[in-house]
Amino acid sequence: MDLSRELASPGKHESHKGHKHFVLDPYTDALIRELRNKHVASLLSEKAPRLNADESLSLILAGNAEHVLALRNSPKTPGERHAQIVSGEADYLVVGCSDSRILRLDSEKDNLVGTFIRIAGNVVPKKGTPSFYEMKEAVSMVRKDGAIIFEGHDGGPGCGAVNERVKWIESGMPHTGSKPLDTLLHCVFGESPEQNAVAQLTVGRETLGIGERPSAAIIYDWDHSKHGHDEPIHIVSANHSGIIEILRDNWNRKHASAKEEGNLGKKLQNQRPHAIAVGSFDLPFSVGTILHADQNEVFSTTGSDQGLDDLDMASILYAIEHLHIRHIPFIAPASSGEEKKPRQMFDLWEKQLRGMEVHGEPLIAQMLDEGTIRITRLVYDLDSGKLVKI
Ligand SMILES: [Zn+2]
Repeated sequence: MDLSRELASPGKHESHKGHKHFVLDPYTDALIRELRNKHVASLLSEKAPRLNADESLSLILAGNAEHVLALRNSPKTPGERHAQIVSGEADYLVVGCSDSRILRLDSEKDNLVGTFIRIAGNVVPKKGTPSFYEMKEAVSMVRKDGAIIFEGHDGGPGCGAVNERVKWIESGMPHTGSKPLDTLLHCVFGESPEQNAVAQLTVGRETLGIGERPSAAIIYDWDHSKHGHDEPIHIVSANHSGIIEILRDNWNRKHASAKEEGNLGKKLQNQRPHAIAVGSFDLPFSVGTILHADQNEVFSTTGSDQGLDDLDMASILYAIEHLHIRHIPFIAPASSGEEKKPRQMFDLWEKQLRGMEVHGEPLIAQMLDEGTIRITRLVYDLDSGKLVKI
């Protein structure tokens, strides 16, 4: 089987292997175009209005309708993919930064099954924390000859977490006044996304049980020609493995098609997503694919039933305070009728967010109570791929 061809992901509505050409109903299609045009205008000009929480949710649900439609061409159902992941047979894991400009890798047409963790600075967390638990569990969900990848990113201003760390070191590593930010800065390494990704891979090999398994540090650089690279994805450190090459080819192809749509550099120059998603680590697709989100639409972090920790809080606070995001979708998988587990997990996440203090004030609790930010609880139905509000 030619896996690289199997992984090729043509444009949104292209037909595949003789399948019928499926299209969205005209209302959803028009809604997506309208909301995405408004969002793109807000990326290109600071003066243009951004999507509000209602519009953000509408775009998320309409994008999910595209995902559900695309699943009709999928070689595996979401339930089959999820079963493969939880039985330790996933093909790969990608640990990527929370940054919304990261390119999504997977698609409904893939035969390979991936799992995804999004964490500020693509760092390996400290042992004993919920984020460390998630990452260790995610590693154990990958088959023994599958790939484990740490994805750094560059382009434009680079990675915010790495930039913050450089400033912090230069100023003598002071307490920042923010416990989540302090924790993050102690986990980031190096002076560039490359140095950080390689360092995280090294730490991961030691602490996450990766050892000599196929693994890599890669950089996604949408400005690659400025940095003298031929391709937007380059591998900076890897055990040689065919699966890593396949994934790299797929990423490069996805970048080429994003570039074809035009204006990529301008759209990505300033990070201005409309939502910060908290996704459970056992989702059978990346959050970007479940929402059919383009680059610079959704900032992400990953949670589990162990709850959120400083590293998740660092992402969420950054999203609210610096990216001015006002919508926090929670997303977790379940078969229909089995929503009790996500419900309990969402209760825990919301309680922790409400308890988080910024400069001595429960900032998020206040904003939620005032209605200036909103949490939307969404269950990813493993039978249909549909997001259901609970
Ligand atoms: Zn980053």
